[in-house]
Amino acid sequence: MTHSQPSPDQLTHKIPVGISSCLLGDNVRFNGGHSHSDYCDNILSQYFDYQKFCPEVAAGFGTPRPTLRLEGDPNSPRMVFSKHSDQDVSDVFMAASNQYLEKLGHLDGYILMKKSPSCGMERIKVYQENGHPHMQRSVGLFTKALRQRYPLLPIEEDGRLNDPALRENFLLRVFTHHDFRHSITADARMKDLIAFHSRYKYMVMAHSQPTYRQLGRMLAGNDPRPFDELKTAYFDILMTTLSKPAERKNHCNVLMHLVGYLKHAVDVSVRKDILDVVEQYRRGEVNLATPVTLLRHYLKHYGSEYVNQQSYFIPYPSPLGIRNTV
Ligand code: SF4
Repeated sequence: MTHSQPSPDQLTHKIPVGISSCLLGDNVRFNGGHSHSDYCDNILSQYFDYQKFCPEVAAGFGTPRPTLRLEGDPNSPRMVFSKHSDQDVSDVFMAASNQYLEKLGHLDGYILMKKSPSCGMERIKVYQENGHPHMQRSVGLFTKALRQRYPLLPIEEDGRLNDPALRENFLLRVFTHHDFRHSITADARMKDLIAFHSRYKYMVMAHSQPTYRQLGRMLAGNDPRPFDELKTAYFDILMTTLSKPAERKNHCNVLMHLVGYLKHAVDVSVRKDILDVVEQYRRGEVNLATPVTLLRHYLKHYGSEYVNQQSYFIPYPSPLGIRNTV
């Protein structure tokens, strides 16, 4: 059965995304306050159906509560209250988190609060007996377990979403994750995976030419693996490849390929004008939205169905204006 998915601009439902409760304004922080994120709560909420969770409250530590921190081995730290480092609360904390983590198989992304020994995604201090943090930083304990349980789930910190390239990359991965899970369901067959891949070819090419070729070979019919194994491997490679933002030169390569689809349809002077805009993008004079919008205009009129269905054109909802920033 084919599960043709609407583009992110046509979705009529919101995508399930996990989030640290304090980012939505819940007063669950150690000091009884919150860390409200305007972008998450007022902008992304138009597209995301949030499932919020505070692992410290779930562990029964109360609000307000004494501050917590990580101590010991930075590769495997323990959680303690800052003023009672003899009391290891890691097990209590992880029991509550693990119970919750079991129920997150339906999510397509997760947004976390930075700097927290529970939710932080990177650069979390791990204190040593001398009272100073270890040079090596760590990950919040909840986030570490989240990553282990769902290694392909797109996750990002609220603060890092202010970086245009990281924001673009996170949203692209969330919508791709959602699309894959709804296109390639339990009853999907090889032809469904091929149909999915044919929509994602240029998106993959923008991130990695070698992966573009690798995935093409995987689906060419000579791979001996059973379909379930193949689709798992495909998803793994796809999400891993997309986790690194696409470079400008790779976007230019994709754009030039796409201009090629106009070869027999539009005048050479029109193609030259479009290629000039691609070069402006290459030099950083215009953002990605400019060549993509121009190209899309012509391809809508003169391009094939195959090229117009490319997820590269609408990887996330257009009203977010993401490509005006990269
Ligand atoms: S950062 Fe995580 S643990 Fe801390 S208040 Fe927010 S949701 Fe709770």
